Amino acid sequence: AVPTSIMVGSGRAAELGVLFRKGDALQELRSVDMVVFDKTGTITKGQPELTDLVTAEGFTQNEVLALVAAVEGRSEHPIAEAIVRAAEEKGLAVEPATGFQATAGYGIEAEVAGRRIAVGADRFMEKLGLSVASFAEAAGRLGDEGKTPLYAAIDGKVAAAIAVTDPIKPGSAAAIAAMKEMGLTVAMVTGDNRRTAEAVARQAGIDRVVAEVLPDGKVAAIHELRAGGRKLAFVGDGINDAPALAEADIGIAVGTGTDVAIESADVVLSGGALSGVADAIAVSRATIRNIK
Ligand code: ADP
Ligand code: MG
Repeated sequence: AVPTSIMVGSGRAAELGVLFRKGDALQELRSVDMVVFDKTGTITKGQPELTDLVTAEGFTQNEVLALVAAVEGRSEHPIAEAIVRAAEEKGLAVEPATGFQATAGYGIEAEVAGRRIAVGADRFMEKLGLSVASFAEAAGRLGDEGKTPLYAAIDGKVAAAIAVTDPIKPGSAAAIAAMKEMGLTVAMVTGDNRRTAEAVARQAGIDRVVAEVLPDGKVAAIHELRAGGRKLAFVGDGINDAPALAEADIGIAVGTGTDVAIESADVVLSGGALSGVADAIAVSRATIRNIK
């Protein structure tokens, strides 16, 4: 009776767009009591857009945007695409960047037209010994709106605060409400700014947030959240989610995610919708009930 129930359960899950990559995931999911989500590309669409560019005195918006876009042209971060697109839409002349360097979780740097450009989070500016104090109020406001504040430095001066916004997927809030209804604790882990993360979590209905996590810090975040013997599922899409997907009791990859994430996961949601997480757990609970 066991194999038949599992087959029926897997079939039912497949109809709901949930694929079990590893044998015992269907049995194990039923005892999960906490679901932890990555933010960018998992809860949000993963397609940010540039919304604000506030310059310091002595710099113009177009000048800063052209220089920043030149550096971002070398980056593969979703933020980079948003900035490059914004410069293209304005028809700005973007010069080549040389000596490009990315610091994961912080930001990027390069030389453009003989000037040294750095773009990234507040902690990146701090790392470079630059103060963002003059933009602190604006950045806080942008964060509270769910936007990610970034900074651009030109030749060692903070020249602008830039914001990108990455809206949550239309179904994320409903999917999370369904999980809470099932008695699950829901949390979010992200490298993004704390205030931004908290605003996005509010929109999605998530109560627990771990923000400003460095790319290699998601596994440690999972260990902390799991303290107290919880059984935890992690849901993510990115290359830097792979270790967390492997470390969680159950790793769930978003089908629109990277190959590396999918290969590290036990369960894959076809498409990007998060409703599959609650569906998968519900199918698991029902399947195991049938076996007993
Ligand atoms: P996440 O996937 O949550 O965005 P990351 O670790 O990739 O986390 O990035 C963390 C932060 O580092 C970003 O929110 C941003 O502030 C900064 N950052 C990373 N890459 C870039 C980039 N190419 N341009 C500007 N900022 C960047
Ligand atoms: Mg992501």
